[in-house]
Amino acid sequence: MTLPPNCGGLGRIRHFYKGSGGEGWPATPLPIVPALSSLGREQSDSLTAEVFQNAGCNWRCWYCFVPFELLDGREAHGEWVNAGELVDRYIAEPDATRPAMIVLSGGQPDLCPEWVPWTMEALRARNLEGKVYLWSDDNLSTDYFWTYLTEEQRILVATFKGYGRVACFKGFDNESFAFNTGAAPKLFDQQFDLFARLLATGVDLYAYVTLTGPSVHNIDDRVARFVDRLQSVHPNLPLRTAPLRVVTFGVVGERLRGPLVRIRDDAERATEEVQVRAIAAWMRELEARFDGEARATPIDRVTIR
Ligand code: SF4
Repeated sequence: MTLPPNCGGLGRIRHFYKGSGGEGWPATPLPIVPALSSLGREQSDSLTAEVFQNAGCNWRCWYCFVPFELLDGREAHGEWVNAGELVDRYIAEPDATRPAMIVLSGGQPDLCPEWVPWTMEALRARNLEGKVYLWSDDNLSTDYFWTYLTEEQRILVATFKGYGRVACFKGFDNESFAFNTGAAPKLFDQQFDLFARLLATGVDLYAYVTLTGPSVHNIDDRVARFVDRLQSVHPNLPLRTAPLRVVTFGVVGERLRGPLVRIRDDAERATEEVQVRAIAAWMRELEARFDGEARATPIDRVTIR
């Protein structure tokens, strides 16, 4: 963190940069492009956001930048507040430093699926719908969106002005998914089902993918099959998908020297050789499947309905 926490200790300012992947990586347009577009502002290479995180996740990705003890839902690491209070704390921040975007992150925000519609209701009640861009993460692991929200809440999420949601594919096949998350390999298949269901609701939906895995065996073909699977959801979905570069820093390095030392060698190979070859394969697949004009389309204008 380069700035101290705000909003009474529950918020932080995150700086998003399009060039965060570094050399050899495509630009990371999320959430900058859809946010600025929605807010009617000029495009930029960076953007700040007010980030709130729920302190729980059902997975334990080895590369997670959140310390694992903050994913356990321990009350000692958080505070019980409702969505309206979070929005009020955001509004109370000084105008000069308050970003125009709120990010609901985690952890896995969808473990409490009401968080998104309740935040929307709070923004709407304060006449901020469309004036503040709302963005939320989803690790594509639960169906709580359908099992715990009412139809009215689902419609609100799909139609709220100035909302985008990003869902993260945690690998490019069952093996890389299981290596990355520690979850059962078959849950990788479920990620596609959940993405398709979310897409059908009409929500403005985007995807991330992390291209790490334990082995480079047949990597070109495995990445090609991953792109096939994205296209089985919608032919244009690869153009709404942003690869995220995994880097070993801070808490990730500590974890690989400590509790996850048994996978340290695999993790090093995953972030170096595997990821480097996978992103090269990803870019070749996109060049082969889409012309230059399609690849240059701003991500929020790529049609996937
Ligand atoms: S799904 Fe996200 S929050 Fe959960 S462990 Fe993985 S990276 Fe961390």
